[in-house]
Amino acid sequence: MDKVKLSIVSLSLLVLGTTFYSCNKGKIVSTGDVSITDVVKAKFSSAVSISTKGIGRKERIILKSNGLPEHKTPYWGSGHALYEDFPSGHAPNANTTMESQTYVMKIPTNPAEASSKEETSLGEIGMALNGVAIYNDREGGNVSLDAMTLSTFDNSGAHPTPGKNYHYHTTGKYTSVDDAKLIGFLRDGFPIYGRKDMTGEYPTLDEYGGHYGPTEDFPNGIYHYHASNVNYLNSGYYILKAGSYYGTKGKFTK
Ligand SMILES: [Zn+2]
Ligand SMILES: [Zn+2]
Repeated sequence: MDKVKLSIVSLSLLVLGTTFYSCNKGKIVSTGDVSITDVVKAKFSSAVSISTKGIGRKERIILKSNGLPEHKTPYWGSGHALYEDFPSGHAPNANTTMESQTYVMKIPTNPAEASSKEETSLGEIGMALNGVAIYNDREGGNVSLDAMTLSTFDNSGAHPTPGKNYHYHTTGKYTSVDDAKLIGFLRDGFPIYGRKDMTGEYPTLDEYGGHYGPTEDFPNGIYHYHASNVNYLNSGYYILKAGSYYGTKGKFTK
């Protein structure tokens, strides 16, 4: 082998090595060949306006919505075309109505694992594909959802806050029921799916309620959350997300 051939071989090895390194790095972050921006644009409903801002690591996807569901709930109020009854034994909380909001969620286009994990807090921790806010497993006073609060949930595991913000705490009839559907994105830019993986199996999740693996939207793998597979207080509802974010949360204003 002459010198020229040798250097070509070394160069090829270098390129191969770099590619391999990028792929490994991509396992923690995202796929590299499927853009989160593209998935967000394809999967969010037309009720959510999507734009991007910034470049490189600072690039953000900006999602805007009025926070109102496109589906039936008793919280529309009786007489409304989208009114339906509460599940048996359930009744409205003190906030019987919901109102239009001006939600703006900013998420990174290339989310990464945070070196120090931050607890999710009360209020909006993500946005479902229809623009409705996603909340964690807590209620006012930062206490775990109890049976009394659960009895104010509609068929979607949702109810409004005193500020009339309608929000999902759990999976439900109009988002995901024991399946692998994409539900939305959390503020750290990682997607959240139903209780199953696309193989039909219930995945083993880490302490953040997620894991790395393929999904329908990211066939080459991405870190993603799943709804909990625990029948919460035997209520038939399954919490969407509890505990800390895996990545660094972006801003959510209203
Ligand atoms: Zn709530
Ligand atoms: Zn999964």
